[in-house]
Amino acid sequence: MKAVIGLEIHVQMTSLKTKLFCSCPADYRGAPPNTHVCPVCLGLPGALPVVNMEAVKKAIMLALALNCRWVAEKVVFSRKHYFYPDLPKNYQITQFKGGGGMPIAEDGYLELEMGGDVRRVRIRRINIEEDPGRLVYTEGDITSSPEVLIDYNRSGIALLEIVTEPDISSPREARVFLEKLRAIIEYLDIADLDLEGAMRVDANISLPGGSRVEVKNIGSIKEVEKALSYEMVRQKSLLSRGTRVDRETRHWDPVRGVTRPLRVKEEEEDYRYFPDPDLPPIPLPRELVDAAAALLPELPDARMRRFVEDHGLRREIAYALAMDKRLANFYEETLKYYWAPRTTAVMLAVDYLGFLEKNKLRMGEDRLTPKLLAKLVRLVDEEVITPEQGKHLLFRVAREGVDPEEVVEREGLRALRSEDELRTIVRRVVEANPKAVSDAARNPRAVNFLVGRVMKETQGRAEPRLVRRLVVEELRRRGVRVEA
Ligand SMILES: [Zn+2]
Repeated sequence: MKAVIGLEIHVQMTSLKTKLFCSCPADYRGAPPNTHVCPVCLGLPGALPVVNMEAVKKAIMLALALNCRWVAEKVVFSRKHYFYPDLPKNYQITQFKGGGGMPIAEDGYLELEMGGDVRRVRIRRINIEEDPGRLVYTEGDITSSPEVLIDYNRSGIALLEIVTEPDISSPREARVFLEKLRAIIEYLDIADLDLEGAMRVDANISLPGGSRVEVKNIGSIKEVEKALSYEMVRQKSLLSRGTRVDRETRHWDPVRGVTRPLRVKEEEEDYRYFPDPDLPPIPLPRELVDAAAALLPELPDARMRRFVEDHGLRREIAYALAMDKRLANFYEETLKYYWAPRTTAVMLAVDYLGFLEKNKLRMGEDRLTPKLLAKLVRLVDEEVITPEQGKHLLFRVAREGVDPEEVVEREGLRALRSEDELRTIVRRVVEANPKAVSDAARNPRAVNFLVGRVMKETQGRAEPRLVRRLVVEELRRRGVRVEA
């Protein structure tokens, strides 16, 4: 069954130095509560906001990268009224289409490759708005905590709101969309989305015959996929029992892995939007948009195509590199020292990422550098060591920061390529394992066992394929009939 899914994504522009309407530092993480505040972001009467034009420039760059066909001719901010302790002004400064207001951009799209198919997810609009303060519940959540603390350091941080049309048809597609959006945002240097709370997603989902359910405030891309999968199962089971799916807003509980009803959805009218009289519209001449267009870097799709066409990389490998700006930069930096794109790409996209994941590290928290990787790649490429050895050495370099060339010299790790030398070891192993030899004709696993023994004797310095050939030759010489 196909779902109908739309996403609303909030991204903090963490790369800006200051907040959206004042000069308080935007980097509030780790700062003591309520230290990055001023009359503007505390909403004190008489304080006047001033637009951070760097935020506008970044928003336009994102709009262009997301193929928006309409970019506003002026920047208009509207007030969205609601009462909540995280919002001292009692209104949030945002953008709104109507009543004289308008978003920064509309009508874009993002293309995804889904198993050979190209899917297009339309972007309805992009808004610039301010983040409210942060509420901290001292015990449990909003329903159980005896008190709530408010930190206004986050109040007034610049946000981008990106709203899609309901063009997404599965939880997995939602994840692929968000991963690509994330890559583009990082390429444009708008935000570091690894930071806690830098990307928050509201997702709405409905199934044929049901109504639209919104799941609010999901904190990571993986959680979005999980929350939507949970909703699909829940709604499917309601529908199959002939029960109505109510139109409602729900909350995702990542600990228990369930969604729960939240509150009745407010209608847009409740917010009484109107253009903010403190912020007169700022004209956006086309030259300014053209200037932003000229600043666009090579984007993930283009980079992936270049890796495939110019470097001869496999598509999946090129995709894995290009979707991660830092990894792709690392890759290209390594190639400057030694040109072996395919070996380098596989080592990074497969072995190195596997290493980071296994050790729960982020790039930069280990000791691999492009220069050390280039040395390692050269050792493999020139067949001084085998690819298998290269992989193990990569882990050591990443952990200890050792020079791979020195390690190979010092520890005598050069690959064992002499067939004569290997044959001697093969004979020794075959003679020491008569049972495996007699089983070999019937049981291919006995051959694997012998190959494994030889590999062990060589301490992984031999090429497994060559060892296998020599083992089979040796067995046949002894009259054992084995498949090659
Ligand atoms: Zn401030």
